[in-house]
Amino acid sequence: MRVMSKTMNKSSNFVFPLIIKKYTYKIIKSFSKISVKYFNINVYRFFIILTILFTYNNLCICELDATKKTVNVGIILNTSAFTTGSSKGFFILDASNKKLKFTKGNIRIFCSEEGVCVGKHILSLPLKIESLNGIIFADSNPYRGYLIVKKIKNKINIINVLPIEDYLKGVLPMEVGSNWCIEALKTQAVASRTYSIANLNKHSNPDQGFDICSTTHCQVYGGAKVEVDSCNKAILETQCEVLVYDGKLAQAVFHANCGGHTENPKYIWNWKYIPPYLKGVKCDYCYDSPHAKWESSIDEIFIRKKLSNNNIGKIKNIKVKEKMPTGTAKELEILHSNGKLSINAYEFRLIIDAWQIKSHDFNFIKLDGNKFYFKGNGWGHKVGLCQWGAKNMAEKGKTYKQILNYYYPETKVERITYK
Ligand SMILES: [Zn+2]
Ligand SMILES: [Zn+2]
Repeated sequence: MRVMSKTMNKSSNFVFPLIIKKYTYKIIKSFSKISVKYFNINVYRFFIILTILFTYNNLCICELDATKKTVNVGIILNTSAFTTGSSKGFFILDASNKKLKFTKGNIRIFCSEEGVCVGKHILSLPLKIESLNGIIFADSNPYRGYLIVKKIKNKINIINVLPIEDYLKGVLPMEVGSNWCIEALKTQAVASRTYSIANLNKHSNPDQGFDICSTTHCQVYGGAKVEVDSCNKAILETQCEVLVYDGKLAQAVFHANCGGHTENPKYIWNWKYIPPYLKGVKCDYCYDSPHAKWESSIDEIFIRKKLSNNNIGKIKNIKVKEKMPTGTAKELEILHSNGKLSINAYEFRLIIDAWQIKSHDFNFIKLDGNKFYFKGNGWGHKVGLCQWGAKNMAEKGKTYKQILNYYYPETKVERITYK
């Protein structure tokens, strides 16, 4: 996999034949006994034609491959049965090349002691399940591409295989509002595409056997049923475009709302290297969005149970002990009946409840009766692209390239090709 700019593509297509032409001429001239005159007219011309054909053909193959590059998405994991089908005909091919054909409708696939069963047939894994109209169902949900059923210990994993460009159609509507400006949708399309490609093989170990999962752990993927025209248009208009820094794919992480400033990941993740484009930027675009401020109340006993690994007693107080340069909480101090506990504010949020505590940017924590009251800014880890900021930048007339360059400074949008 490599990234190549459109400019590079064009210039290499132009320069490459000239170099080949020059050296082919020199080499053949030196070793051939053919006269220079004869060589110039016939052989030389022949090599030019070959070079142009080679270069043109090579370009076409690259472009074609980029749109067809597939991803394996784990959609149903660790199950012993599921239902598949299609509104048109479909077939199931097993590991021994046994092929079952079906007209339309649904069938149940389940594990038994002998193997995996489809009606009265016992099949050997892995299975490939493909429909004639390109849409295959798994537990009532439609998916583009085809399905692979893999045995993982005593259970099965259902994996959806489809081109990355089609996969994104099932991701974008889950990440952003489909009624957002097209430039905001294009921003998310490039960020999600870059994130997906950079994280291929995240679940490729033998216990899992696919590239990326369909939950918030990777990116939420809803299959063909969530697709909307506006997001599909944004994906098509940025087809195969990714975010690049220093010739490599960028770490295009994103979150809902930064609360005023995006963060340096060194305070929350143990990354050995922090790319310069993720050091954090001031964001004046998200403060009036629905998730700019949040508040919640959580029972003291609930927090105590969640922190029970730390020999924690009844909690008397929680305060921000240390802040990041942007003012976001870095470390919390929890005073309890058995002593004090220091905990990373970001980890605290994930341990307690990432839905109720929307960010680690606390500006108010107070115990009242049996409940702790929290107030804070933003939603998510606050690193990289601020999605609500992107929405408002797009409404103010910024293009997707300007938005990406604002949240990931010094990166570039380039077209990806695969070797
Ligand atoms: Zn995952
Ligand atoms: Zn923001």
